[in-house]
Amino acid sequence: MKSLEIADLRATTVTMPLEAPLRHSNGAHWGRFVRTIVEVETSDGLIGLGELGGGGESARLAVEGLRAQLVGHRAYDLSALWFKLCNPTASLYNNRVQIHAAIEFACLDIVGQALGVPVHDLLGGRLRDDVPFASYLFFRYANEQTGAGEVRTPEQLVAHARELKQQHGFTVHKLKGGVFHPDYELECYQALAEAFPDDDLRFDPNGALDVKQAIRFGQAIEPLRNDYYEDPTWGVSGLEEVRAAVDMRIATNTVVTSMEQLASNVLHRAVDVVLLDTTFWGGIRQTLRAATVCETFQLGVGVHSSGELGVQLATMLHLGTLLPGGAYAADAHYHHLADDVIVGGKMTYRDGAIPVPDGPGLGVRLDRDKLAEYAELYERLGNYPYDRDPGRPGWFALVPNERWADPSADGAVSVQARGGAR
Ligand SMILES: [Mg+2]
Repeated sequence: MKSLEIADLRATTVTMPLEAPLRHSNGAHWGRFVRTIVEVETSDGLIGLGELGGGGESARLAVEGLRAQLVGHRAYDLSALWFKLCNPTASLYNNRVQIHAAIEFACLDIVGQALGVPVHDLLGGRLRDDVPFASYLFFRYANEQTGAGEVRTPEQLVAHARELKQQHGFTVHKLKGGVFHPDYELECYQALAEAFPDDDLRFDPNGALDVKQAIRFGQAIEPLRNDYYEDPTWGVSGLEEVRAAVDMRIATNTVVTSMEQLASNVLHRAVDVVLLDTTFWGGIRQTLRAATVCETFQLGVGVHSSGELGVQLATMLHLGTLLPGGAYAADAHYHHLADDVIVGGKMTYRDGAIPVPDGPGLGVRLDRDKLAEYAELYERLGNYPYDRDPGRPGWFALVPNERWADPSADGAVSVQARGGAR
């Protein structure tokens, strides 16, 4: 039997272009994602893959700084890994939950490769062959380099959704809001409902609305085919108040991201649906623990997207096939990407779903040429701040927000803008 002891780890930061800059309530994705790809190598010569974000910034130094703690650790020892990296008291000083996730993905990848089985077989076995996704619609700036991609008006939004539906087969549409005044976004959401009367919808303003606005918006959309109302306002108490006033399931990816918070929500329900992010929760195994609790207490679950390339998408697919029945269609930013760093290029949607990888481990391998190409792009463009908007210099978000963007101002921003000083 192989020892699967970690001998080394490497991190490579890459910049992946998006079709157009994506706007959200707290800032923007500036026409690109900055992602850190992690490679964990064992003394047996196996390489496991991980991935994490960093709000537009590189996580390379934080990951590689853990080399001394991880060399000699066996990839099998996933329970010990959690305590080594995420001791709750030490986490007050060094929060490593997302780094732990990337290392956990890599260790699962290594064990799967060593045994010749996919990760989902290590964790319970698949329940479905592919994972359904929602369209994940954003308001977008035009890409200044190509002039294309603007989504600002209800007409542009519906046309964008129609194109995505045709191309990928989505039957669920999620609108990321919190950019414009809620009355304007209500018009946009209602236009989607009218255009796709047989499809399901969800609205997520990332906690930007105050409680009164969130209740008003929620009551206005009650008659529509909503899956759920995601983080309409910020904080457990605010969500609880909205939940009491609106006849709709309330979902979150912001205020229930740990077992402690989940326990509180079980004892005192503020949300009905927990969106499980393999990175924010600290790994696939952590999200599965959470899913088991959710199943027991009849809380809904779905797979959350924090802006993934193919390595993290693979973790989302393995999680998606392991979730019990009734999970909501997953979210993915993936269709906004121009390319990927995995062998074979971008995974493709079929009827709104992506097949679960069935190769050993995570089932994806790095395309070394692509990795080098997008690492070079990162070197050229640098970081960008997730919580700033390149089209609104000087602006920053209040929570709840009150400084909405102007929907009559059309704009294009350079997808190659450097983030600059904060
Ligand atoms: Mg969300």
